[in-house]
Amino acid sequence: MPRGPAFLTILFRELMMSNDSTDRAYRPATRLLHSGVERTPFGETSEAMFLTSGFVYDNAEQAEATFTGDVTHYQYSRFGNPTVEALEKRLADLEGAEACIATSTGMGAVSSALLSHVKAGDRVVASRALFGSCHWIVANLLPRYGVETVFVDGGDMDAWAEALARPTAAVLLESPSNPMLDILDIRAISDLAHWAGALVVVDNVFATPLLQKPLELGADVVVYSCTKHIDGQGRVLGGAVLGRKDWITDTLQPFTPHTGDALSPFNAWVMLKGLETLALRVRAMTDNAAAVADHLAGAEGVTRVFYPDRPDHPQYALAQAQMSGASTLVAFEVAGGKAGAFAFMNALRLIAISNNLGDARSMVTHPATTTHMKIGAEERARLGITDGVIRFSVGLEDSADLKDDLDRGLAALRSR
Ligand SMILES: *Cc1c(COP(=O)(O)O)cnc(C)c1O
Repeated sequence: MPRGPAFLTILFRELMMSNDSTDRAYRPATRLLHSGVERTPFGETSEAMFLTSGFVYDNAEQAEATFTGDVTHYQYSRFGNPTVEALEKRLADLEGAEACIATSTGMGAVSSALLSHVKAGDRVVASRALFGSCHWIVANLLPRYGVETVFVDGGDMDAWAEALARPTAAVLLESPSNPMLDILDIRAISDLAHWAGALVVVDNVFATPLLQKPLELGADVVVYSCTKHIDGQGRVLGGAVLGRKDWITDTLQPFTPHTGDALSPFNAWVMLKGLETLALRVRAMTDNAAAVADHLAGAEGVTRVFYPDRPDHPQYALAQAQMSGASTLVAFEVAGGKAGAFAFMNALRLIAISNNLGDARSMVTHPATTTHMKIGAEERARLGITDGVIRFSVGLEDSADLKDDLDRGLAALRSR
């Protein structure tokens, strides 16, 4: 066998590095299948999986030239891997971003985006309604390294204006938020943040790359847990950071290979398979979510339903303006607090009790005792996470079966 087609490695790297891909001429559903595909001479249909930690050189001179940067050649999978780069290219194409770096988890994406950008003495402003671990990074980790952090109520534009009246290094926000599906005005917050000199980082997990484009709304960086909708079939963990090429190259790229946050090529390959069906799954799950939200809204025992596509959602107009679809998640509150929520959940037979989300299988969780237990009762009250709130990640099951299962929960709730 030949030593390995060096020309191919070089070609591959050049393609991965290019930022004006012709793939962008295609519409999202097409790009989900075709972007980033670079076949080896074997002509495989599905992307090759380069499950390798390192790479070999033809001679010592090539190794030296690789390290001086005179030759483009893969060195080691912590720095780059063809399968991981295929995923990065497909995600960048989909997002409309100049560049992408894949990470081992969604939290890797969030922490690397922030830690690579800030230094001691800097200031970070974040919306209060964040995924639990994101909240922990802002509340506990950054201050430990000398970064001042400030939380604001995401919907309160006066609070944003006040917090951003001083120079700020970064803003972190999530919209729709977990678990209450609050919608934040990404454009207005980005304008204020840029005035303060801040990099705007949006956790776009709940919206998926298909339903909301934060970069078009003024954000600088988008982060994903690819574990959620992008794999979406309960298999592997992964994450991604997307943004401008200069920021990725100058700020993030020097950081992640040294701190060690690299995505496994195997997981990248699973994500590539996940992306192929992302548009179909998100559309079907969103349709199901809208159907069950309406079903729950009319039911006895349900005190409130939070779904951005319903006119009774507090930020309905903003959701319509900012997003091209609502959400695969629904939040709702049942009567009877924790006991009511537990009676409801324990009566379900089809919908699993699980704190994951964005999966093909439907799942419910009780945020007050799981994902949002650690933030404490006072913070939960501020976020509207009462003891009766249930977060429902709606899957691909037949919506009639989902409604039947919800009715089992409601019957148990009413017969308490
Ligand atoms: C799950 C999730 C994360 C973290 O992702 P992991 O892949 O679990 O590390 C971050 N933000 C949001 C909104 C999430 O749902």
